[in-house]
Amino acid sequence: MAAVQNVLVVGGGIAGMTLATALKRGGINAEIVEITSAWSVLGIGISVQGPTLRALRTIGVLDRCVAEGFGYSSLVACDVNGNVTGTVTLPSLLGEGYPECIGIMRPALQDILREAMIAAKVPVRLGVTVTTIDDRGDGVDVAFTDGTRGRYDLVVGADGVNSKIREMIFGTGIKPEDTGQAVWRAMVPRQETIRARHMFYGPRNKAGFNPISETEMYVFLIQPIKGNGRIADSDLVGVMREQLADYGGPVAVAREQIHDPERIAYRPFGSMLLPPPWHSGRIVLIGDAVHTPTPQMASGAGIAIEDTIVLAELLQRDESVEALLKDFTARRYERCRMVVEASRQLSEWEKTPDAPGADPVGVLNRANAALAAPI
Ligand SMILES: Cc1cc2nc3c(=O)[nH]c(=O)nc-3n(C[C@H](O)[C@H](O)[C@H](O)COP(=O)(O)OP(=O)(O)OC[C@H]3O[C@@H](n4cnc5c(N)ncnc54)[C@H](O)[C@@H]3O)c2cc1C
Repeated sequence: MAAVQNVLVVGGGIAGMTLATALKRGGINAEIVEITSAWSVLGIGISVQGPTLRALRTIGVLDRCVAEGFGYSSLVACDVNGNVTGTVTLPSLLGEGYPECIGIMRPALQDILREAMIAAKVPVRLGVTVTTIDDRGDGVDVAFTDGTRGRYDLVVGADGVNSKIREMIFGTGIKPEDTGQAVWRAMVPRQETIRARHMFYGPRNKAGFNPISETEMYVFLIQPIKGNGRIADSDLVGVMREQLADYGGPVAVAREQIHDPERIAYRPFGSMLLPPPWHSGRIVLIGDAVHTPTPQMASGAGIAIEDTIVLAELLQRDESVEALLKDFTARRYERCRMVVEASRQLSEWEKTPDAPGADPVGVLNRANAALAAPI
């Protein structure tokens, strides 16, 4: 019999939902506590890469994701006026009839994962988190903010970049490092010619498009910032348009379609990779809680989802918890390190595009080829 029979997952985001579903499908009891009551996500798009879709196939949601997203097969690099300067062909991982990558709205992906989790009968408590975690060696005693207590074979911290579980087991010293960049995303109508992810390299920043349906795409913009980079909601439209002012061609068309601050997301971002091990005793971390890449490769959710598939597979084994969790970090660390470091390199080159040897298309090609390898 497997050593782990009941699991507490702290955090009901992409990683937490996928893990609990994968565990339940494998016959292991899993329950989630999610700190927010609303359990909502930003109304903006996300790229789901081929390796991520391959991992999502394991929990039976591939076809729904493809049906609700916009499929494409390449990344197109362009100059400031939209002239193509390079193309990255994405590896084909899913077989005949499937795209190499999709763009999809985050709420649609959230609904798909939530429905899969409900179908797998995963109990979820919203507006609840843990207050104390006491690893007793043969099990973990947990107290919750709703006054209840529980005992688990394993506790998984899937509570994102500012993970409290990480803080509880590894202290407060590990934080995402400021990268001096912020990312903008705004929903606009899809232009007929935009049938793949596009990146446009301007003199002050990098812009891009990601199609998410026949009718919509989002514009993204990565901007160097100083300080905390805060912007008032009332200034979002004006500042984003000004940051896009250098561009001609398709970006100029999209710029004029940015009107609604409710359909803009803006945030400074950091980068983090927790050195091994990713566990202590019977408590383990997954997803953004251990690896937070900058968004250049659009693979943060992808490696979080892969973590869950690998962990759920390992937990089927009849081995000690220590051996299973050691194996988990060993299987995941190098791959996640590669994504965090390649994304960080791309981020540095965006800030200094004339840096000797800058080769973003080459880095993306090599990283995508590496991610095509099985997990
Ligand atoms: C601007 C931007 C664009 C991105 N674009 C892409 C993309 O196109 N493709 C891609 O693959 N990735 C992308 N990412 C990365 C992706 O969003 C993350 O990697 C992914 O959301 C990580 O999932 P997670 O479940 O680990 O963490 P989260 O999604 O952060 O989920 C954590 C969950 O835990 C809950 N929680 C937090 N604290 C507690 C607590 N103490 N107790 C209980 N619950 C708690 C939170 O409410 C949340 O529901 C992007 C990131 C950014 C910043």
